[in-house]
Amino acid sequence: MKKTKYLILGAGISGLTFASYAKKDYLIIEKENKPGGFCRTTRRNGYVWDYAGHFFHFKTEEFKKKFIDSLDKDDFVTQEKKTFIYYKNKLIDYPFQMNIHELEKEEFIDCLYDLFDKKEKEDYDNFLDMLYGKFGKSITEKFLKPYNEKLYACDLTKLDKDAMGRFFPYADKDAIIKNMKNSTNNSYNNTFLYPKKGAETIIDILLEDINNENIILNTSILSVDMDEHIATLSNGEKVEFEYFINTSPFNKFLKLLNNDSYNKLSDNLSYNKVLVFNLGFNKKSKYNNHHWLYIPDKNINFYRIGFYDNILGTDKLSMYIEIGYSKEQQVDDIENQLKLTIENLNKIGVIDSSFELVDYESIVMDPAYVHIDTENEKEVKKLKENLKEEKIYTIGRYGGWTYCSMEDCMLEAKELFELVNK
Ligand SMILES: Cc1cc2nc3c(=O)[nH]c(=O)nc-3n(C[C@H](O)[C@H](O)[C@H](O)COP(=O)(O)OP(=O)(O)OC[C@H]3O[C@@H](n4cnc5c(N)ncnc54)[C@H](O)[C@@H]3O)c2cc1C
Repeated sequence: MKKTKYLILGAGISGLTFASYAKKDYLIIEKENKPGGFCRTTRRNGYVWDYAGHFFHFKTEEFKKKFIDSLDKDDFVTQEKKTFIYYKNKLIDYPFQMNIHELEKEEFIDCLYDLFDKKEKEDYDNFLDMLYGKFGKSITEKFLKPYNEKLYACDLTKLDKDAMGRFFPYADKDAIIKNMKNSTNNSYNNTFLYPKKGAETIIDILLEDINNENIILNTSILSVDMDEHIATLSNGEKVEFEYFINTSPFNKFLKLLNNDSYNKLSDNLSYNKVLVFNLGFNKKSKYNNHHWLYIPDKNINFYRIGFYDNILGTDKLSMYIEIGYSKEQQVDDIENQLKLTIENLNKIGVIDSSFELVDYESIVMDPAYVHIDTENEKEVKKLKENLKEEKIYTIGRYGGWTYCSMEDCMLEAKELFELVNK
């Protein structure tokens, strides 16, 4: 039987970062035929496509430096984000709540009136309650509610008031009024970095510190015996470990532990799935100065679309399209969704009948956004603490069952390595 100090489940950015700190005595098990997880890139026919746009909004100097020092300055672009909401045939600057003065007069007055008339509370029952309380009826019903319902594909009363954490663009009355006079649109991701070869570049950087022999690809972990500290792999092998680092989705990981109460929690956890289309066309769109757009209109199948060509400065329209599905829905209508997508891109004027779709791919992200709700959140936290006592750690966006960025995943993996080696 193989033995290792750190058995790592998953070769995404979280698992690889942990391994890059461990340096030795680790084994990574990855079910796919290459490392990267959701941080992978397709490069084909001159198009560069991620698993939906994956942009770097570094907040720590350490990881920013690691990224920049590993690349030539011509290998990546730095962009000030240009993001809009497609609202009633018009583009409004994002975030909606900060830019209501760009709406037609009547709608602007409704939003403003409700903003001043809203009933703020000390505490909110759920995400929707928070939206009404902080932004009022009109802002909520014109954008925040329909957009987030399309994205999360769920009833927003089921989400915790802080379901989006620091990623939610909060704004109080003063900030909104100030922005009407002098637009700043400051947010956590005002500028971002993007490698010309796509987000997978960060995986290539991490792989430089990793020994190939310590990654087993095309192999799943089927079960984990917590008492014996032995994992069984899909190739029949067993591996004994001292520490187990899970980065696979927490709901799926719980099923590997063969415990009835864990199975129950696993079934209760909720999330959405996202169908991503990456589309390459033969020429540039008239949308030639936009990075991504938010689409709250429920008659349009996608909730967000992005323009790789405008970010990278290339000369042919290259897009990602994101479509939300609930946990229960099967993503079995890909052809139909593609047809609808092309129709809707025509409708909103991104393309017209003279555009030719040169190449495309579809990807299903499952799970994509986990639904953070108060009850399950407590259970997840408690269970993670119990697992820690068995030297079993579960980290990353899906292992940790949270909403976080690639950099957050790297930071958490680094901090875990430091913790277990204290
Ligand atoms: C639509 C969308 C857009 C996003 N955009 C951005 C962005 O612009 N910027 C940003 O910073 N972040 C973005 N993110 C978040 C980012 O994708 C994640 O934070 C990050 O990729 C998570 O990495 P991870 O290693 O924790 O998980 P993953 O990438 O999911 O890696 C887990 C790995 O485990 C493997 N695995 C799972 N189960 C098993 C098993 N049983 N046996 C073996 N292997 C297994 C998987 O194949 C995978 O390789 C976005 C996410 C989504 C959904």
